[in-house]
Formats: sequence, C-alpha cells, structure tokens
Amino acid sequence: ALRTVLKTKISLKTGRMCYSSSSVPTIKLFIDGKFIDSKTSEWLDIHNPATNEVIARVPKATQEEMVAAVDSCSRAFHTWSETSILARQQVFLRYQQLIKDNTKELAKSITYEQGKTLADAEGDVFRGLQVVEHACSITSLMLGETLPSITKDMDTFTYRLPLGVCAGIAPFNFPAMIPLWMFPMGLVCGNTYLLKPSERVPSCSMLLAKMFQDAGAPDGTLNIIHGQHDAVNFICDHLAIKAISFVGSNQAGEYIYERGSKNGKRVQSNMGAKNHGVVMPDANKENTLNQLVGAAFGAAGQRCMALSTAILVGEARSWLPELVERAKSLRVNAGDQPGADVGPLISPQSKARVCSLIQSGLEEGADILLDGRDVKVNGYENGNFVGPTIISNVTPKMKCYTEEIFGPVLVVLEAETLDDAIGMVNGNPYGNGTAIFTTNGATARKYTHDVDVGQVGVNVPIPVPLPMFSFTGSRGSFRGDMNFYGKQGIHFYTQIKTVTSQWKAEDATLKSPAVTMPT
Ligand code: NAD
Repeated sequence: ALRTVLKTKISLKTGRMCYSSSSVPTIKLFIDGKFIDSKTSEWLDIHNPATNEVIARVPKATQEEMVAAVDSCSRAFHTWSETSILARQQVFLRYQQLIKDNTKELAKSITYEQGKTLADAEGDVFRGLQVVEHACSITSLMLGETLPSITKDMDTFTYRLPLGVCAGIAPFNFPAMIPLWMFPMGLVCGNTYLLKPSERVPSCSMLLAKMFQDAGAPDGTLNIIHGQHDAVNFICDHLAIKAISFVGSNQAGEYIYERGSKNGKRVQSNMGAKNHGVVMPDANKENTLNQLVGAAFGAAGQRCMALSTAILVGEARSWLPELVERAKSLRVNAGDQPGADVGPLISPQSKARVCSLIQSGLEEGADILLDGRDVKVNGYENGNFVGPTIISNVTPKMKCYTEEIFGPVLVVLEAETLDDAIGMVNGNPYGNGTAIFTTNGATARKYTHDVDVGQVGVNVPIPVPLPMFSFTGSRGSFRGDMNFYGKQGIHFYTQIKTVTSQWKAEDATLKSPAVTMPT
C-alpha cells in the first residue's frame, strides 16, 4: 500500500515530492496530516551536488503556516499522549518495517540531494532505522521507579511523562539518520513533534513522514515545516514548544541553545567536531591504514564523526607514504555511479571553503602530500568534487587544524609519545569522537580514560554508539545535559512526576493537624 501511495504522491525514483506541474518540483509542508503547498513567496533552490542542477525548490514556510503546524501538534498532543503505550509501540513496529522495506528508495533520495554514495546512503537510513527499532522497546524504556513503605503505609512511585510539543532542527549531512534520532524518540514517549529538516536535503524527511503516516501515526502527531533562520527563531520562541533537539554547526547550535534555553525550553545541541585518530607504532598497520582512510574520506568527510585528523606517534610516522597510496586508490564520482567511494561536497560554497582551508595549510608551512582540489570527474564537470587530500607537518596553531574542514581532507600531526598525543586531543576545542589504534591494552585503557571526548573507539574508527547507548559529545561539540537517543534520549523527552501515597487503616487516623515537617 505504501508503494502505491508513494508512487502517486512521491517520486520513488528521485525521492522528491512531485505535485507541481512546473519543471522544477516543489517540496510540500506536512501540516495536520496533509502534504500541502506553501503559500510563501520565498523559495530556496535545491541542487544535485554532483551536477549543480536545480532539482527542486523548498519553501520558507510563512508565519501562518508555522503557527498552523504547532497548533496541529498541540491539538494532537491531547490524544496522542493519552494513547496507550502499546498502541504507540504498534505504530513504531509498523514504521520500522516500512523503513526497512523502502531503504533503497530513501537512499536514492539522499544521494540525489546530498551527494553521498548509494551504499553510504543506505547506511544513513540503517543507522536511523536502528533508533526506530530501539523506540519499539518503549514499554520497558519508559518504566518509572517505585519504593514501597517509605514510612508506615506510604509508598512512592514515579511516572515518566511526555513534555508536550517538541521540535527538531536537522543538518544536511545525514538526511535520514539525524531526523530519525529526533522525532521517533520524541513521539514514542507521547510527545508530538515539529521537524525542520535541513533546507538543503528535505525530501528524505518528507518520505519518512509519509511512511510514519502510513504506519498509523494520527494526523498532527508529526508536522514538518521548511525554512532557515525565521523557522529556527520561530521554534526557539514559540511558547508551546517545550524541547528542541538540534544537530549542526556550532554557529547555529550555540545560538539555538541560548535562545531556546532563555525561552525556558530544554535544548540538546550536537555540534561540530575535529576527530583525532591516534596511531600507535604497535597498531596493526594494514587494518589501521585502511580504517583511517575509510573514516577520513568516506561521505567526502562530511560526517561529524569523520576521522579528519591523524596523530602518528613515534615510529608510526613512517607510515605516511602508505597512507597516501591508499587514499589515492579511492574513486571520486557521483554517488549513484557504480564503484564510487567519494561523492561531491554539498555546495560550491562548501567546496570553495574546503579548498581555501587546504591552501591555508600550505601558506602556514604544512605540506600537501595529496591534493584533491583539481580532481576531474568525467561527465560531472560541474559537481562540487574534491578528491582525497592529505596535509602533513600540521601544527596545532594552523587554521587547517583549528577549524572543522568538513571535507575529504586528512590533516596529519606527529607526536613523540602517547601523552603528547593525549595533550593535543584535549587541547582541541572539540570533543565529539576519537579513536586509538593499538594492540596494547594498557595503552588503549590509558587513552580511553584520559581523553575528554564523547565517543572513543579502540581500533574502531567511527564509534557511533548503538541506540541502547547515547550519542554524546563533550566541550565544544555539545551543549545541554541530556544526550540523543538511548536512556538519555528518553530522559530528554520526558519529565518525572513523583507520587507519594498513603493508605492506612482507620485506627491510624491523625487525631490533630501535623504542623511539623514529617521526618
Ligand atoms: P548548519 O548549522 O548549517 O545547519 C543545521 C540546521 O540549522 C539547519 O536546519 C539550518 O537551517 C539551521 N541553521 C543554519 N545556520 C543557522 C543559523 N545561523 N542560525 C539558526 N539556524 C541555522 O549545519 P550543516 O552544515 O547542515 O551540518 C554540518 C554541521 O553539523 C557540521 O558542523 C557537523 O559537525 C555538524 N554535525 C554534528 C553532529 C553531531 O552529532 N555532533 C552530527 C552531524 C552533523
């Protein structure tokens, strides 16, 4: 049934919402269970990053449309929060199956708008799907606590209850996974949800919304608006919105954290990164070099967990030429082309920024061992391609080290000892992810204990936690105190009510008012 609906309403081939008869399709809003045309006069072009052709247009929703979306969430909250937890669980059980059945279609839409390879796009869907599968365990995850007999005839118990309307503001780099970190966790707890996808990759969210509706989610439980700053400000300011999940850059994340918090909302803000891979000389060389290259250049380096910085310790410094050879073997191509390893960057502006950061390294005295700036991709001459690039002799003060590059660029530093490497990692402002490559347990243990980073891998280059854990982050990579998904995600999207009750026999009735604090 979903396929039939999708075929008539959404192009499965491209993942776009195709209702318009104009040559460039337009993206709908999803308000109160309906996919509707925006009445806005302001539209943004969406480009295929491999060609830079305009493939769709996304509206900047009007104030009236955004208000209608929140009002819909507010109305739906009354019934959805009272819907039995077993009924909510059933919606998510159907939802996970629909996502599974349509993974390839979702992946196509991701590659078309975001640029990553099809295989990687399927991984994007799969990692989001895991969160939906985890949400299906809500009947255990939302259990409260009880403590009987805290005094005579008196028991205390807690409920975990939804907050109300919650909102998510998503980035461009994981069009499926990150929206799926957000609204399923919020909704399964009994909240209703307003999602603002990245204006650069909105189609995947629209497909996910359609599937959610087809899974039986009542109208108004999930609403989707599109836009940029005005939509973000609207979310930060609207009184009915109780919590905001944000993932994206520091510039936006710190702003949203501050503005949302000032308005009394819970905010969790996952932001930028500079992830270090520390290579010890005792590491398994073959494995380490392959892992490093995959994690630095996969998704064209546009992952918040990309290993964008290598620290070669001691004798591992001599591995550099082999690292370069492996990086050279990666194939740069449009994401839908067979054998593509590295797709395009999201925009020409992003490519220009990445290229200027590479240039800054050269100007500050680093060496460019592999330069992907002039890469040519046959048939895709207008795409935003940058080939794998390796910059060595980098020092911590250089701009290519202090700034998040977010492209297929690996900067390489050197250290004499493990302690020196730990000092560098902890001296960097970001604390998102890191990995150590070693065959020595004591080295691994020291590293995992001493680094101040949210996600640590030991011989695991991209240690994104499975959803029974939580995705964390420290220092400049995170604002807030409750993380995404896992137990912490449930805590973020619920509040606790504590009930203390006393049922006693009649002969124990108080004979006079109790005016002192009970002890
Ligand atoms: P971005 O900050 O440009 O956009 C994210 C969202 O914020 C979008 O919906 C956008 O419309 C909105 N936005 C953008 N600029 C804004 C501003 N000035 N004020 C208010 N709202 C604004 O991020 P992006 O380029 O889409 O994503 C890449 C960034 O996301 C990278 O820095 C990456 O490290 C980070 N990221 C972090 C994680 C994590 O879990 N830590 C995961 C994925 C991506």
